[in-house]
Amino acid sequence: YTKRYGKNNYTVYSKELDLNTDYKLTIERDLKSAISNLEFMLHYQPIVNLKTGEFNTMEALIRWNHPKFGLVSPDDFISISEESGQIVSIGKWVLHTACSQNKKWQDLGHPPFKIAVNISTIQLQHHSFVETVAEILAETGLDPKWLELEVTESILMEDNEALKDSFLKLKAIGVSIAIDDFGTGYTSLSYLRQFAFDRVKIDRSFINDIGSDLNGKAITSTIIALAHKLNMGVIAEGIEEEGQLTFLKEEQCDDGQGYYFSRPLPAELHKFETTRGDGSFASASTTHRDGS
Ligand code: C2E
Ligand code: MG
Ligand code: MG
Ligand code: MG
Repeated sequence: YTKRYGKNNYTVYSKELDLNTDYKLTIERDLKSAISNLEFMLHYQPIVNLKTGEFNTMEALIRWNHPKFGLVSPDDFISISEESGQIVSIGKWVLHTACSQNKKWQDLGHPPFKIAVNISTIQLQHHSFVETVAEILAETGLDPKWLELEVTESILMEDNEALKDSFLKLKAIGVSIAIDDFGTGYTSLSYLRQFAFDRVKIDRSFINDIGSDLNGKAITSTIIALAHKLNMGVIAEGIEEEGQLTFLKEEQCDDGQGYYFSRPLPAELHKFETTRGDGSFASASTTHRDGS
């Protein structure tokens, strides 16, 4: 019995492996034409100041409308594109599109806000990354102070001179940097202090635990205190419920993001409030609290 079980088990396992390999190869192949076929688009999700309720940043999140599979989540293709190196050109497309959209919003008369763009570690380590950012800012005419790059915490583990140099150059240009998904990796605290990153984003998993377990609360308030001691702002990601918001406000968390305020939406679906009589934009907040 053991033998037979073992054998069947093996067969099933290897079939699954084949399927996964097929899927990966298909994704990798189709990614090659995704940019030129205009299959990518960006959705934007506001990051809100928890004291005033006004938003100060829009995070750009990539969406892939695959001709056969429909909407493919970035979780399903970003890592594949990192392995194949395709992330470098995809990342350029994202940066260009996001900066150009933010400039468009400014030209329309909205009070300026930052655009936050996710950057993969592979992209950041590319030798011409800083030049690419500078070029895109020049091409789109966006002032660097309205661009924030989100890098994941794993970048902090790479004790790498070239990376440190890139961070310093980006800071010198005037771009800000946030650490995404904070709390899930193994951060060297000295590295955090050394770089004066602008903001830290508390990983969604901790915010999710605020209402249900004490560790969620403890970890969240510890990260907020740590960030403030190091002169960094704090964003809580994945806020879905009132109770989480109440706790975060009590703990003096600066900013928040999540379905509670708005889902990520295409640029044209963000309706900006125009409360001034002359039709100009007086208030920087979007009307999509429920994502409708
Ligand atoms: P992230 O940067 O941490 O982005 C936050 C993710 O949480 C987004 O998923 C967003 O849609 C989702 N989210 C926001 N609020 C809530 C909430 O209240 N509840 C829940 N359950 N989820 C919420 P998305 O758009 O599927 O992106 C997943 C990840 O893919 C991102 O995580 C980021 O790491 C990566 N990604 C997305 N766009 C890009 C990109 O242009 N370049 C790179 N390199 N990575 C990207
Ligand atoms: Mg992010
Ligand atoms: Mg995140
Ligand atoms: Mg994430």
